[in-house]
Amino acid sequence: MKQDVKKLIIAKNIGFCFGVTKAVNLARKLLDKEKKLLCLGDLVHNAVVMDELKNKGFCVIKDTKSVKNAPFIIRSHGLPPSVLKEIKNSNVPIFDATCSFVKKVQNLVKTFAEKNFFIFLVGDSQHPEIQALKEIAGKNCLIISPYNPKVNKKITHKQCAIIAQTTLSSEMYKSAIKKIVEKFPDKDIEILNTICPVSIKRQQEAKNLAKNTDLFLVVGGKKSSNTKKLFIIGKNINNNTYQIEKLSDLENIEIEKFNKIGIISGASTDINFINILINNLKHTGYKKITRRK
Ligand code: SF4
Repeated sequence: MKQDVKKLIIAKNIGFCFGVTKAVNLARKLLDKEKKLLCLGDLVHNAVVMDELKNKGFCVIKDTKSVKNAPFIIRSHGLPPSVLKEIKNSNVPIFDATCSFVKKVQNLVKTFAEKNFFIFLVGDSQHPEIQALKEIAGKNCLIISPYNPKVNKKITHKQCAIIAQTTLSSEMYKSAIKKIVEKFPDKDIEILNTICPVSIKRQQEAKNLAKNTDLFLVVGGKKSSNTKKLFIIGKNINNNTYQIEKLSDLENIEIEKFNKIGIISGASTDINFINILINNLKHTGYKKITRRK
């Protein structure tokens, strides 16, 4: 009897997004000539790349007091203005790798804050991108959790704006918008689509792959916000959805039970790791198929 070919369907949009690529390339270039490069937090949620950079002199610091005697790099999430000011006062060279999409959202928040709008920021309150946006927005701002979009605040402003974290899932954003609009039917509310195109494309692919495969693997670090969103999207559609941060995570899955495996990655996942994962699965009898646009 003819046996079905076991398939590995790889998403078109995988590996680093261009914002992360820009930040990592800039850090690598600087470390070719500098002995040390400072950064507040990890440059990328990827242990392999972080180890490579640290071996070359990349130094993760916890606060601005440690900014001295070496250049500083701003990561793709951007920085709150007060933190940037403190770093500028340290008189070290500053290299800005803030993603252009994040910068665009920062400018939008600034514009709406200057026009005296009340701003609802939908995103993870602990995420550095949201922390920077909150500070730019000032006091007339409320962070709405995408996981539990409750709005328990009295707002006197007539004009409001709703703005999303760049890596938010479209579904979560829609449900948060619905809650806000229902809560304030008498306000003039501007809804801004600030989810970045990279996240939108990956979310669409995640939906299709989760629907059309037996097993769906989302490759990326546990600290990566966009990987987490892809995992949630997959899990809501296909119960056999797993997040893979390291090869040993595969050991918890009975891979051989599945004929069609879908693979996507977060925006901070290195293509080299994805290729290692793919080769590993190819050795167990799966044929690689890359999706077309
Ligand atoms: S996920 Fe989007 S916003 Fe974030 S760094 Fe990548 S391109 Fe920029």
